[in-house]
Amino acid sequence: MTGIYRRLTAAAAVLATLTIGLAGTPAGAAPPDTGSKLAAVDNGDVYTVEYLANGQIRVGLHEPAGSPEALRRSLRAQGNNVLAAGETPPGGGMGILACVTYGTAAQWCNHAWSYGPFNDPQVYFLDYTPAGFPVTDAVADWYQSPGIDAYYRWNTQGCPGGGRHCVAVRTYNAGPDEFGVTYWNANAPEGPVSVYLASHMAGTNQARKSTCHELGHALGLDHNSSTNSCMKQGRIAAGWSLHPSSQDFEVLNRVYPKPGT
Ligand SMILES: [Zn+2]
Repeated sequence: MTGIYRRLTAAAAVLATLTIGLAGTPAGAAPPDTGSKLAAVDNGDVYTVEYLANGQIRVGLHEPAGSPEALRRSLRAQGNNVLAAGETPPGGGMGILACVTYGTAAQWCNHAWSYGPFNDPQVYFLDYTPAGFPVTDAVADWYQSPGIDAYYRWNTQGCPGGGRHCVAVRTYNAGPDEFGVTYWNANAPEGPVSVYLASHMAGTNQARKSTCHELGHALGLDHNSSTNSCMKQGRIAAGWSLHPSSQDFEVLNRVYPKPGT
């Protein structure tokens, strides 16, 4: 049993406790705060939270094009349940797993893929995007990570199954405040995970960077505070990398250790 599996088992025990609290909670309403193992939302992170009828908590991590607070206001105006800066999420939506950090890179704490029968988790990105969104290039970036295997498929090729995970990558009509969003059901390592890229970015370097960024979230990474990494969130400027950094790879390597190590 690897460290990550031990952590996931612990997370499952927490989820079982939370599920009791969620029973009978109408979809969209916040369950009682359990008060344990909850992480406050970073000031820069923009989260939407949905409480699903099956007891899972669907979180969306949104990438702001300008200030995080402007995007929060915009998302609230669209009817979303948006966590405030510094807010502790109700119901255990985040911070369940031990959180790996390395240098300026970090794990998205409550998310980690299961291995299935493989030595590394297998994640297939199913591309639904039109021209101008370099999903193939971004997957090629992440394929270099030793901890997890990222593969590209055009959407019509479908999901291969057999313990392999699939993440649909789509575009959407985002407002000018937003570049993209990655959704993941908290405490559900098998997913579902989905990625949406703002269609207004098509053909730009911002699209290259934000595609890399959202795919990194889908693999299990949180933000990197360095402009050496596409995992730094926000609008790119001169000198800003459009690719992952070696520290992003190292976090994935530690989140997904080889079995027996
Ligand atoms: Zn992000």
